[in-house]
Amino acid sequence: MHHFHYRDEELHCEEVPLRAIAEAVGTPCYVYSTATMTRHVRVIAEAFTDIASLIAYSVKANGNLAVLATLARLGCGADVVSGGELKRARAAGIAGERIVFSGVGKTRDDMALALSEGIHQFNVESAGELRALSQVASAMGRDAPVALRVNPDVAAGGHPNISTGKSGDKFGVPWHETRDLYALAAQLPGIHVSGVDVHIGSQIGDLAPMRAAFEKTVDLTRELRERGHPITRIDVGGGLAIPYRDGDTPAPPSAYAGMIREVVGDLDVEVILEPGRVIMGNAGVMLSQALYLKDAPDRTFLILDAGMNDLMRPALYEAHHDVWPLAAPRADTALKSYDIVGPICESTDKFAARREMREVRPGDRLAFMSAGAYGAVLSSQYNARPLVAEILVDGDRFDIVRRRPIFEEMLQLEDLPDWLT
Ligand SMILES: *Cc1c(COP(=O)(O)O)cnc(C)c1O
Repeated sequence: MHHFHYRDEELHCEEVPLRAIAEAVGTPCYVYSTATMTRHVRVIAEAFTDIASLIAYSVKANGNLAVLATLARLGCGADVVSGGELKRARAAGIAGERIVFSGVGKTRDDMALALSEGIHQFNVESAGELRALSQVASAMGRDAPVALRVNPDVAAGGHPNISTGKSGDKFGVPWHETRDLYALAAQLPGIHVSGVDVHIGSQIGDLAPMRAAFEKTVDLTRELRERGHPITRIDVGGGLAIPYRDGDTPAPPSAYAGMIREVVGDLDVEVILEPGRVIMGNAGVMLSQALYLKDAPDRTFLILDAGMNDLMRPALYEAHHDVWPLAAPRADTALKSYDIVGPICESTDKFAARREMREVRPGDRLAFMSAGAYGAVLSSQYNARPLVAEILVDGDRFDIVRRRPIFEEMLQLEDLPDWLT
């Protein structure tokens, strides 16, 4: 469900025609819908009303400050994977006690920052990290609340580049080492064992692999409690899939919650959720303009002003994005087949191959749908292209919530050494 729809022959975000935003801000740019975010958070919160839970929104999906502030007002906490994301979440008004810290490579500086912010939980992924955290926390005279992220050795079933729960993945503590690591955690100063954490991947539409991972996690929790570990929380990670095109029917949050309710049963734990894509994916689009058409012997290239540096998902993991014209095409417009590409000098700068759509002409504006998660956050300045603007819509108003840097700002971080001046 999202709030992007055609009205009066124009694609709107809520009450705002996207053409008006493209004219005011230029393309490419990202546009986010407050109503869509609100709806997604409510659906998740309602599905989990009878389960003690914390919705720790995964900041890496979209860390824009206005997005975070919107989600904070809706009651979300945050799941962060770096000191920078932690600072973003705090700057958006998310309290430290509603923040969990994930990721395999936390630095000691990141740990110290998180301890001083009094975060809810560290999701620790290795013995080395556990020892480092123990040292940092002890030196500060603090106790770090810790869950170990376990690797349940379950294949998530999605694209291999976004699977994280198999034994060959870098994520989580290998299953056979978990008991020893909990024993170590219980002994280390500055560590307070509080939970078990699992996250097996992203864009998972089928609940079976998640259920398998959670069942193992719940069994492990019971066993750890028998061994004397005071486990009061299970962090089930994120990973719920969203529909990217017609016919996609991923499991909805209600079914996901029902499955978790069943698996957790009477365990009496706080359930921590780390949804990212399911909140933001369909809450954002990227706008672009067609520059040129180029005919090759066996195909037509549709060349856009947006490139893989602006939206990397297709190049990174062969992701599909629907592409809709901002001006509704007339029904009698011919269907054409395009290879949709950007201006970047890389062959992987291709958004779609042989995509059937109504005829596009140079100057036409297009929207890449479902680009709210892992869109702007993954963008770069490759080919000296400034990061694109981000716009937040709320009803009939919109505002630029991240402006595009000007070229001089891109150069500001660089300096010539003496011998070149
Ligand atoms: C990326 C990530 C998430 C969010 O995943 P989604 O598929 O966007 O819901 C949650 N937890 C961890 C640890 C992650 O790395």
